[in-house]
Amino acid sequence: MNFTAKQVARRRVHILFEQATCTYEANPELAQSYLLTAKKIAMAARIRMPPAYRRRICRQCNTLLVPGQSSRVRIKPRREPHVVVTCLRCGSQTRIPLKPKNKEKPQIEQNNFKDETSR
Ligand SMILES: [Zn+2]
Repeated sequence: MNFTAKQVARRRVHILFEQATCTYEANPELAQSYLLTAKKIAMAARIRMPPAYRRRICRQCNTLLVPGQSSRVRIKPRREPHVVVTCLRCGSQTRIPLKPKNKEKPQIEQNNFKDETSR
């Protein structure tokens, strides 16, 4: 698989997502099949789905997750703070942690220490 094939695949995934969002209200089944096709293209071309797209598609049934329509979004403060997205079609849940992955703690601590000494 060369570079241009991946670019073509990315464009097709983008188009399929646009079409799915347009057709969801009128025909959810068609939107679902668009998303399944997008998923298959991404897998065949070995490209990662962008997070913006990955979070809008149910991992179990490939439904377009529209908050308030096809999905329920809840913020959970317990254990690690996270967002739970529930698919209202199949009931599967996806957890998205709210903690950023790479924190620059050492630098912040150093800055705080400097501030304290200057006072
Ligand atoms: Zn689902």
